[in-house]
Amino acid sequence: MPDELAAPAVEPIVEQLPPPAPPPVVKAAPPVSVPNLPKINFNETITVKDLAEKMSLKVGDILMKLLKMGIRASLNQRLDVDTTILIAGEFGFDADFLPIYTEEAMLKKEVEDVGTLLPRAPIVTIMGHVDHGKTSLLDAIRETTVAEKEAGGITQHIGAYKVQVEKGSVVFLDTPGHEAFTAMRARGAQVTDIVVLVVAADDGVMPQTIEAIDHAKAAGVPILVAVNKIDLPQAKPERVKQELSNYELTPEEWGGKTIFVEVSAKKRINLDKLLEMIVLQAEVLELKANPNRPAQGIVVEAKLDPKKGPIATVLVQKGTLRVGNNFVSGLTSGKVKAMTDDHGHRVMEALPSMPVEVLGFSEPPHLGEGLIVVATDREGKEIAERRKTISRESILEKRRHISLEMLSTVARQGKLRDLKLIIKADVQGSLEALKDSIEKMPTGEIVVKVIHAGVGGITESDVSLAAASDAVVVGFSVRPEVAAEELARREGVEIKTYRIIYEVIADIHAAMEGLLEPEEKEIIVGRLEVREVFKTPNSKIAGCMVTHGKITRSSKIRLLRDSKIIFEGQIHSLRRFKDDVKEVDQGYECGLGVENFQDVNRGDVFEAFVKEKHARKL
Ligand code: GDP
Repeated sequence: MPDELAAPAVEPIVEQLPPPAPPPVVKAAPPVSVPNLPKINFNETITVKDLAEKMSLKVGDILMKLLKMGIRASLNQRLDVDTTILIAGEFGFDADFLPIYTEEAMLKKEVEDVGTLLPRAPIVTIMGHVDHGKTSLLDAIRETTVAEKEAGGITQHIGAYKVQVEKGSVVFLDTPGHEAFTAMRARGAQVTDIVVLVVAADDGVMPQTIEAIDHAKAAGVPILVAVNKIDLPQAKPERVKQELSNYELTPEEWGGKTIFVEVSAKKRINLDKLLEMIVLQAEVLELKANPNRPAQGIVVEAKLDPKKGPIATVLVQKGTLRVGNNFVSGLTSGKVKAMTDDHGHRVMEALPSMPVEVLGFSEPPHLGEGLIVVATDREGKEIAERRKTISRESILEKRRHISLEMLSTVARQGKLRDLKLIIKADVQGSLEALKDSIEKMPTGEIVVKVIHAGVGGITESDVSLAAASDAVVVGFSVRPEVAAEELARREGVEIKTYRIIYEVIADIHAAMEGLLEPEEKEIIVGRLEVREVFKTPNSKIAGCMVTHGKITRSSKIRLLRDSKIIFEGQIHSLRRFKDDVKEVDQGYECGLGVENFQDVNRGDVFEAFVKEKHARKL
């Protein structure tokens, strides 16, 4: 039976490997190298065996170290960059990553001629709380500008559209919200130049407004605020400004740096002013690109058309994309057969910041995948093939994000590294307390930074932000949602959950000092949903359905309500019908009695887990 929830130390993950998003690893390499250590070089094809040879060691020595890190590998398995650096460091070597088949390597070969850079249109993502008017604003801008410029013109939904205004043009990405934005970033793609944060003037700053701010900040993308729904009598734009000032978004008129525009998507008020301000902000950012070079772009939408085959919308970032160009995009290669712009017109070329629908992929690419024009069809195919091999064999490739354990090892090796955290807690009070304690930690060579803090369970969006920013997710009395847990496993993001603030601080501190002790590793064995609650003379029995994994009589359990931990403890009884049983598998119902706990409701979730001693040190 598939044991989906157990988080095994070893991940047999070949089947779920995403495309080799731009080799992650480069940015994750520790910034400072230690002098005087013997140096070795490696690239993305390195295997356990190769590494052993480079250091003149036995393969068994490396396998043992890996095992102690919780990674069971075989001698021909590929290693990811972080793991290679860590292992080499443990044996007293300074390992340098020299990528061969990556975009980075290709980019390095080309020296950008600054003289040829020309201004390009800003690419904008609209973010904000649900119902604050993101979609309405996107539609309103699209409709007003198209109607004005092209009688009867209709924009095609191709994933992005470009609008022309007096002083320039602006490109809007069609998928609003920070989830899509950060999911792209987690794949290594940053397309957005400016975030327009929509805040409804009648509602003010809400949880997703704050999330959007943190996501934009983590990406280093400037925010422009659109205070929407000012047509409503209950609109309070001044209050929005006040509230946003608490998040370092202070309006210019109050001495701050943030541009605020009061708009109404519904009544089409001030949309031209908003566009004008975006163009102004873009000028400040000096967005430029060289159109005279082979194109590079990013896939912002992809589909398989039953008649035309794979189609993708590409946003050109630099160079000019032309019909007839050969390209490689992730694991796919192709040749541009035809291109269509956002008005449905056939075009022969696309300049920087221009969204175009491209025909000619051999298979649909993934969202956020880069596209690079190459000289020949053969070169494209070779790169795609090579990447496929790397991605197939590198089962460890995704284990690349920082973990406290990794931090500890790196610290022991005397290398520097920042630690970014995303913290989630059950209530505002504990969140504040935790944030305070973390921010007050003595900062040595490792700087700890909280990039997002919020109340509630750990969501996919948190994990995605962690993946995009190389952060660790810390939960305090909260647990990850199932989808978030799966994403974390896939992306190699560490989620640590605690119930005592002191322990959070102690762990982070130990990691910074390189002293993280072996811990008991928790393995989630199953998840149960409470469908019914039965009263017996002296207790309550929860009638549950095992929705993931299984539950065993010896597991510990915790009760979750909206991903918040309500209780943690022991099983008192586990039954199927009238019989006591040792375990119950996924898809079966059971009756669960909990020791010393009665407050169970229908809709609650039980998580069953076991603890395993786990040597943490390398
Ligand atoms: P989203 O969830 O952020 O994409 O929000 P929507 O664009 O779906 O808008 C949510 C609701 O707010 C809809 O009922 C819109 O009609 C309404 N709405 C959007 N913009 C305005 C506005 O400027 N004024 C008023 N009065 N309502 C608006």
